[in-house]
Amino acid sequence: MSGYNQMWSELGLDLEAHDALLSVLGDSYHNIFMTQKNRPEGMKYFDFVMSEVHGLRIKELMDAKTQGKKVIGLYCVFVPEELIIAVDGISVGLCAGAEFNFEGAEQILPRNLCALIKSAFGFKLGRVCPYIEACDLVVGENTCDGKKKAYEVLSPYVKDLYVVDLPQTKSNAGKMLLKEEYLKFIAKLEEISGKKITYENLRKGIDIVNAKRKAVLRLAELRKSNPIPISGLDSLLINQVFFYDDPVRFTNSVNALCDELVERIKRGEGVFPEGTVRVIVSGCPMAVPNWKVPYIVETSGAAIVGEESCVGERGTRWLTETKGSTVEDLVENITDRYFKIDCAIFTPNHSRLEHIKEMFERYNAKGLIHYNLQFCQPYIIESGHFETDLKNSNIPTLRLETDYSQEDIGQLKTRVEAFIERIKG
Ligand code: SF4
Ligand code: SF4
Repeated sequence: MSGYNQMWSELGLDLEAHDALLSVLGDSYHNIFMTQKNRPEGMKYFDFVMSEVHGLRIKELMDAKTQGKKVIGLYCVFVPEELIIAVDGISVGLCAGAEFNFEGAEQILPRNLCALIKSAFGFKLGRVCPYIEACDLVVGENTCDGKKKAYEVLSPYVKDLYVVDLPQTKSNAGKMLLKEEYLKFIAKLEEISGKKITYENLRKGIDIVNAKRKAVLRLAELRKSNPIPISGLDSLLINQVFFYDDPVRFTNSVNALCDELVERIKRGEGVFPEGTVRVIVSGCPMAVPNWKVPYIVETSGAAIVGEESCVGERGTRWLTETKGSTVEDLVENITDRYFKIDCAIFTPNHSRLEHIKEMFERYNAKGLIHYNLQFCQPYIIESGHFETDLKNSNIPTLRLETDYSQEDIGQLKTRVEAFIERIKG
């Protein structure tokens, strides 16, 4: 019996299904992460976070709620955490990365939706996600068609669903729409929290989130080194924990890890054998516990040195500016910052391709793996013409299309191994 059973039960979780899920996740975490050689000591913090991801962290959220704080669940990096912190709220990521209760999800959604959406529904309908149950507000966004329409279906299942509209083009009108939407979102946050956004509390929110982004960007910078001081799997895990942990504690832990990596680099100590091939992974976001492709890549003779992903550099690469002296100025800065995110829902989306090429150079990579979730139209379509352009730029590219099942692991591994052999040559 877990010491958290009463809390989970009060949240309405299906304890039997939840226990089964935690057991599978615990085994998979152990096999994937704890078997890596020479991991930095600083990863112990993240191992602990993961071991308590449904326990201590949820207890912290519930304690915060009793003090009047609001828990806000998000599915997308377009929803500004700065605004949530400004009203003394706590943001938590709700995207899910495991094939759980797809049968349940497919009773109310079509089968041919991406695994990210089906997983989020599977977790909710199967009553195994304490995060969504702890939320005072769930925030959706009009990004891809799948998500946009799925929120209509999700609405009756959650206490309070709020959907942010998003532009689809990088135009002036698009930016104005985004700013309008952020102003409406502020009104909603003020209503549910009973707190007014001021220059001071918004500035505090910006500083906290900027510090968090700076820490993960510092980590990213250290991965340029040779030998590579940390695995792609551990780096992905940190980028995943980014969405769950207390932001200040997370920032301090990433910075402490980076200090350790600096020392490793000075000593010439890495986690992969000399000459391991460096690759970038680009494409759809990988939510916890989606570690399938990185695990395959890093057990097939390559090291992942960067992620062009919303759980990675696409989500964190810009800081929010702090210029100006009013709330209006800061909202403008937030809009500027978020409007740069080059999600494939935008058309056209040239800056994403430029970013991939720039990352390839910056991390001294030898190949690019474009990771597509099956049925994700925006990223799959984009990956086709990106591949042609990348080939013309002499960037070897492997396009993978997969889901959350384990069935294609053998086939994926064969393709990844062949790609690594090719780029080694
Ligand atoms: S890929 Fe697009 S829709 Fe998904 S989290 Fe990123 S910005 Fe949001
Ligand atoms: S992976 Fe693709 S289809 Fe799925 S939610 Fe993200 S953008 Fe939409």
